[in-house]
Amino acid sequence: MNHKAMNKPGYYGEWGGAFIPEVLYQTFCELNEAFQKAKADPAFWQEYVSLMSTYSCRPTPLTHAENLSRHFGGAQIFIKREDLNHTGAHKANNVMGQGLLVKKMGKKRVIAETGAGQHGVATATMAAKFGFACTIYMGEEDVMRQRPNVFWMEKLGATVVPVTSGSKTLKDAINEAFRDWVTRMDDTHYVMGTVCGPHPFPEMVAWFQSIIGREACGQIKQQFGRQPSRVYACVGGGSNAMGIFQGFLDNPAVELVGVEAGGKGLDSGRHASRLAAKDGSPGVAQGYKSMFLQNSDGQMMDTHSVAAGLDYVGVSPILADLWQKKLVRFAAATDAEVMAALDLTMKKEGLIPALESTHAFVQAFKEAGDLGRDEAIIINMSGRGDKDIFTIAHAFNDPSWKEFIKKKGIEYGA
Ligand SMILES: *Cc1c(COP(=O)(O)O)cnc(C)c1O
Repeated sequence: MNHKAMNKPGYYGEWGGAFIPEVLYQTFCELNEAFQKAKADPAFWQEYVSLMSTYSCRPTPLTHAENLSRHFGGAQIFIKREDLNHTGAHKANNVMGQGLLVKKMGKKRVIAETGAGQHGVATATMAAKFGFACTIYMGEEDVMRQRPNVFWMEKLGATVVPVTSGSKTLKDAINEAFRDWVTRMDDTHYVMGTVCGPHPFPEMVAWFQSIIGREACGQIKQQFGRQPSRVYACVGGGSNAMGIFQGFLDNPAVELVGVEAGGKGLDSGRHASRLAAKDGSPGVAQGYKSMFLQNSDGQMMDTHSVAAGLDYVGVSPILADLWQKKLVRFAAATDAEVMAALDLTMKKEGLIPALESTHAFVQAFKEAGDLGRDEAIIINMSGRGDKDIFTIAHAFNDPSWKEFIKKKGIEYGA
């Protein structure tokens, strides 16, 4: 990546590092070595691009949203279409990249943890394609809430392990996955889902996701004639944001905007905004130093977002650094704002962004009218919204959907 702030490997300013148990030290050294070798080898990147263009939908298009642009009467709105990837989101970029690396390392088994299940589905897809054994750790609570994703993981050949310790959600699944890794380091790779975790994961995931920004930078030049004024992306762990931002970080004229989950509002205590809200504080958890939502004892707080993929206590150490250096501006979108922006995007453009992605749309819509018609902005549409049908139908309080669910329930003897 071209972010030059790194002073020692794995640190971004004061953020990052690799806080790992000693038994994993050798495994991390080997992983880092394999990754740095791949990163320095243009043939590896070529192999990755070729895989993504034949197995997923790369390059993904950049769509000029003409109706929305006219509606707001300001900047020309362009949308980077990561929703057109296999499994419906940018997550495919990361898991397929790591899959290639695992193949190079000669390992035969992958494990991952997943909260909402999207990363689990993407990892199970990759494992099937590469012929790896695959185990996915998931909090028991999440297994119940995300049945459709659990169904697909199992059908794709993965073993899904419900984690019953602690709060039975994502952070417990992370602990369990690390426990597994410690016992099977020789043949197993841990597929990190976002630009977080111990070094080299943030650097590695950011590198694979940089394919988004590399494409977008060339596409906007070709379609609009010059660079955009602003680029918007939603921020959970931060991988889709880092992916598109890297295409523009070298150009100070392009303002980068990360949008976090504002949940019920930044004053409600029910959100997942680590940087835009005042509630985040520096800490070390899950192997890295960053800004976390935690209490004064360092215990992680419960977060809330209508978008499961943004509902996370930590944020990328790379983004914490860019935030501190004021190279990325952060904002938050509430659940209610997200529903309104989703409705408008569907009606005006025929696009169905994921609830996560729609957070970026909210902020872009707030600001588009302030810019000139001769300017452009890009919104990263990190994924498609099909997966959110239960949540969206519930939020819109759709009566015929309720009827349908009731009938299905009766069919199954509920
Ligand atoms: C998982 C997910 C996210 C959040 O992850 P990042 O690492 O912040 O990109 C955002 N959008 C979609 C569609 C997702 O599935």
